[in-house]
Amino acid sequence: MRKIILFLALAFIQCEQPSKKTEQQNNEPSFGIVIHGGAGTILKKNMTPELEKEYRAVLAQAIEVGHAILKEGGSSQEAVEKTIHVMENSPLFNAGKGAVLTAEGYASLDASFMDGKSLNAGAISGVRHIKNPITTAIAVMEQSPHVMLSGKGADDFAISLGLDTVPNNYFITERRKNALKRVQEKEAAKVSFYDPFIRDSKFGTVGCVALDQAGNLAAGTSTGGMTNKKWDRIGDAPIIGAGTYANNTSCGVSATGWGEFFIRSVVAHDIAALVEYKGMDITSAAKTVLQKVADLGGDGGVIVLDREGNVAMEFNTAGMYRAHMDAQGNQNIMIYKDE
Ligand code: ASP
Repeated sequence: MRKIILFLALAFIQCEQPSKKTEQQNNEPSFGIVIHGGAGTILKKNMTPELEKEYRAVLAQAIEVGHAILKEGGSSQEAVEKTIHVMENSPLFNAGKGAVLTAEGYASLDASFMDGKSLNAGAISGVRHIKNPITTAIAVMEQSPHVMLSGKGADDFAISLGLDTVPNNYFITERRKNALKRVQEKEAAKVSFYDPFIRDSKFGTVGCVALDQAGNLAAGTSTGGMTNKKWDRIGDAPIIGAGTYANNTSCGVSATGWGEFFIRSVVAHDIAALVEYKGMDITSAAKTVLQKVADLGGDGGVIVLDREGNVAMEFNTAGMYRAHMDAQGNQNIMIYKDE
């Protein structure tokens, strides 16, 4: 009899424990962070194990910076900014140092930021001297009456605030110089702008979406745009609603891919609109909008985070550098499609 009672007591404890844990987790504040480092024809066969390790290490470093800020109760804005700094400062990505080059051989950078609580936003395009473009995008939002500044004016704005500026050659790497040479050779050989080689000459735009413990979403994107770009071409990354969008009533989005198609499909806002107006889940919304991009002939990817901390990382290219961390600290870092 005593044995039976002991058995029943043990069984009761076993049943109780998991539900207590679930309850505890439910009471924990929900927060989360997701990043991308560009989408494109990223195939294992084109990657060395060393380079892959480097990419994964910087993605981990970046997302851990943002996660630590959120865990300590910091804002999603700060998490997005500091996370993007890590990728802008790394030569691996097409943002800040290591950005792709224009036809004339210099770096010209675009960035944008949006706050999901106030729907405030800031963006810059075509800047040549701002070390961390995402910080200036946030400064446009907070310290100017405008949403978007471009070119020399945007550089001057950053200088007037004392933000970090650098000579343009700070951004330039051998890898991007070689990529420009290859694209220009193709161009001289009259290869179409829509050639896969040309369309793939722009990997590494970076983006981040974060949800903080106060329930506020924020999203940011930073890029050098497309290799060999001319005529002060502007992509989707600095355009609020195309490359970046955040709204506490739906979700935050950052995009990467063939900017012309992302502008025409108004990707980031379209995803948020499907969630807000149709009650769609973020994965279905992201898939629906990326299909619109594909139907027009474009490709790329998006990261999305909703106000419950659900995450979507969707793309229609071979790969997308991406990572996610939830409130419990579970970390997921991925590059290829089949991961
Ligand atoms: N969307 C960026 C642009 O078109 C490039 C990229 O994300 O790869 O400027």
